[in-house]
Amino acid sequence: MNLAQTINEKAKQYQDYTANNLSELVKIKSLSAKEGTVVKKLREMMAEAGFDEIKIDGLGNIIGRLGSGKKIIAIDGHIDTVDVGNIQNWTFDPFGGEINNGFVHGRGSTDQKGGVASAITAARILKEIGLPKDVTLYVTGTVIEEDCDGLCWKYIIEEDKIIPDCVVVTEPTNLNIYRGHRGRMEIEVSFYGRSAHGSAPERGINAIYMASKAALEIEKLNERLAFDEFLGKGSVAISEFVSGSPSLCAVADFAKIHLDRRLTWGENKDLAVKQVEEIVKNMNAKVEVLNYK
Ligand SMILES: [Zn+2]
Repeated sequence: MNLAQTINEKAKQYQDYTANNLSELVKIKSLSAKEGTVVKKLREMMAEAGFDEIKIDGLGNIIGRLGSGKKIIAIDGHIDTVDVGNIQNWTFDPFGGEINNGFVHGRGSTDQKGGVASAITAARILKEIGLPKDVTLYVTGTVIEEDCDGLCWKYIIEEDKIIPDCVVVTEPTNLNIYRGHRGRMEIEVSFYGRSAHGSAPERGINAIYMASKAALEIEKLNERLAFDEFLGKGSVAISEFVSGSPSLCAVADFAKIHLDRRLTWGENKDLAVKQVEEIVKNMNAKVEVLNYK
């Protein structure tokens, strides 16, 4: 048997082990910045799989190491998930971790606990067949990715001083190998109106109407964003709409929309901001780019 066949055989042998590990991970709710319990579980799993060293860094990332060679390879999966949204839309328990027909069901099963469970199995197999001497393998279960993508790896590189030659990110890609993805930025637009008694709305300026008009223009903006052969189209989505009013019987004097903007090749931060500013130029509105420190 050649090496690839050996690995394939072992992966098959460990199919139930991997599925059970994933099921256990799915059962533990781990919203962004609340990953403590799932990290504890992962520590147990990594210990069982035979990692040479397991550590939890200052940000809360769990990092398992195998080998100590010069070439550094990391397999990464974030272990936080987004929330479940409207529970009525689920036909099964999002935290049930049910294993059915070769699939593990639940929140985070693909994005991205499945990647972490698979990486643990991969490390276990590598431990058994022997990792090449010149390689160090890290398996990282990273935190707060859904809210602040990139922050976890910024920490690993700058604070943990782990600088890999190559990172395999296990974001779901329908089992295809992807070599990159679009950039992401968050933009907030605040709208300032003037309140007036609800019985005389013409005396005020309704911030909700302003924001709504802008929202519909942003929907159209999404249609005409740049396209790139390799990365696909740029996109913009409104992920939150909030408003404020001194009273429920008064004209709303404040509204805010949150934009999730994905940048394709050729687009940058300045362009993305300009596009939004153009939409709100005749409104009393402020466009801000959000940063996480
Ligand atoms: Zn993800």
